[in-house]
Amino acid sequence: MTPKEGILKTMPLSAGSEAREMSAETQPQKAKILLVDDRPANLLALEAILEDLGQDLVKATSGKEALRHILNDDFAVILLDVNMPEMDGFEAATLIRERERSRHTPILFVTAHKDDEHLFRGYYAGAVDFLYKPINPEVLRSKVSVFVDLSIKSDLLQKHATMLETRNSELERSIRERQRAEDEVRRLNSELERRVKDGTAELLRANEELRQFGYAASHDLREPLRTVASYTQLLGRRYADKLDDEAREFMGYITDSVHRMDSLLSDLLAYSYQLNVREQVLSTVDTEAVLQGVLMNLDSSIKETGTEITHAGLPEVQSDFGQLVQVFQNLVSNSIKYHGPDSPKIHVSAEEKGEEWVFSFADNGLGIEPRYHDQIFGIFKRLHGREYPGTGIGLALCKRIVERQDGRIWVESEAGPGSTFKFTLPK
Ligand code: ADP
Repeated sequence: MTPKEGILKTMPLSAGSEAREMSAETQPQKAKILLVDDRPANLLALEAILEDLGQDLVKATSGKEALRHILNDDFAVILLDVNMPEMDGFEAATLIRERERSRHTPILFVTAHKDDEHLFRGYYAGAVDFLYKPINPEVLRSKVSVFVDLSIKSDLLQKHATMLETRNSELERSIRERQRAEDEVRRLNSELERRVKDGTAELLRANEELRQFGYAASHDLREPLRTVASYTQLLGRRYADKLDDEAREFMGYITDSVHRMDSLLSDLLAYSYQLNVREQVLSTVDTEAVLQGVLMNLDSSIKETGTEITHAGLPEVQSDFGQLVQVFQNLVSNSIKYHGPDSPKIHVSAEEKGEEWVFSFADNGLGIEPRYHDQIFGIFKRLHGREYPGTGIGLALCKRIVERQDGRIWVESEAGPGSTFKFTLPK
């Protein structure tokens, strides 16, 4: 193995992509070797022996010249001839050691003397080793290559350390930036929360005012309406003989309007009452009993229209009896009201689907075009005119009640005869 191979073999092995990346950035550079001898022939001889190492060889013919090189460059090792005029090797070594930059540069003294005094002076001046003349090329090469190796490795180490330091500070900076961004997100979040809270409070206040207004309006307006109704009746009775047919017809219009206004107000009252209910108190309700109650309430219109009502599988649910009566009654009475040419047929049923009950009210009535399926659940939305009395509140009320009990309501129907209203209730 040649000394050159030795240098390459002992280079640091890199592992993994990071190490590969690092070694690419930190390719080892050639080491510099300073050769100092006052005789050019000796310098040439040293050069010839060390050429094989493939490093940079710098030559100096005096201690002074060597010091000038040391001011500008870092050397892996210095080969210093002891016996030189003006400034001998020991004096030069002492000055080399005094300089900060070269304090730790290894110095190999080249000398012909093998005595203790020489050794002592040499080590005192900062020598790390001695080479004796006549120089054995193999010994020289292997001693120098050890220092070259050392210098290349420590150079690499230094570069790696600097790189790690840079990466570290980059990492710290990005952590600080991320921290700042997180703080900002937190600040924006709490600002958003505050705004949502303020907005919600504002909305609740507005809602409350509206609800109170709706309730008061529908409740208080019924009072004067009753007065209008009673005085119209009184007028009719007291002045019956003085009124002609036209006057009686006009009074009929007044009475009709009063009735319509009254049912509008009573539906509005029911609706605003639902808006008013804060806490739902649910209990076990037998929906078959609900249907029976509704059939009793609607007895006269069922008989009048010859309505046929069947039912199947109505379960017990956790709900509110009164509210379910309102939903069932609105759906059944609508099926009776919006019947087609045939007398009304209604089938009420319920089916278990996953975690909920699905109730169906199927009729053979007028049917509803799909484009109106959502609209009809809005308040005051009607598809029919005066020929079918109504306020447009019934389905909005059903939707309100069902949704407050975590259910959904919808209609399945085509323009042709028949609609099926469905709603769900959790089991
Ligand atoms: P109202 O019956 O008082 O007008 P609803 O809110 O109960 O109000 O119903 C809204 C509209 O939906 C009705 O005006 C009617 O046009 C339509 N509708 C409701 N139920 C049926 C049904 N079973 N068949 C056909 N149309 C219906």
